[in-house]
Amino acid sequence: MLALVWISWCKKKSTCVSCGELIEARQPMVYSKFKGERHPILLRKHLHCWVKDALDWLEKHPYKHHAGAGRPKLNLSDEQKKSRLKLLMARNNIVYKQRRLAMLRPELAIAKQTAIQEKIYAICIQLASLGGAPKSWLG
Ligand SMILES: [Zn+2]
Repeated sequence: MLALVWISWCKKKSTCVSCGELIEARQPMVYSKFKGERHPILLRKHLHCWVKDALDWLEKHPYKHHAGAGRPKLNLSDEQKKSRLKLLMARNNIVYKQRRLAMLRPELAIAKQTAIQEKIYAICIQLASLGGAPKSWLG
């Protein structure tokens, strides 16, 4: 849930949703605004209550280290990586030619579609032992 959180001075007495006690005017106060079903929901908390709640949340959701961004690396030898790259490039070349043919001579592209799909399928089979076909090819 997306929330907007900001800190401001309390303008008039409010009740803290965390501890249930009064937030006196002219004290720092944390506002949290959520998108409700009918209208926005505005929650008011003492600054120290908000910090306590935030630290409690972090304790329940401990820090997890992610080993770098993006896809996980394939565990392949240099030779396997070269073979995989060759197959990926071969498939991309086929797709490029197919798209170019579809623009220039659509009737011929349709006629060759089955043969092209078979070539791509053969590449996918070869890729199976080299980390598999990329997920983007499945769409
Ligand atoms: Zn409070």
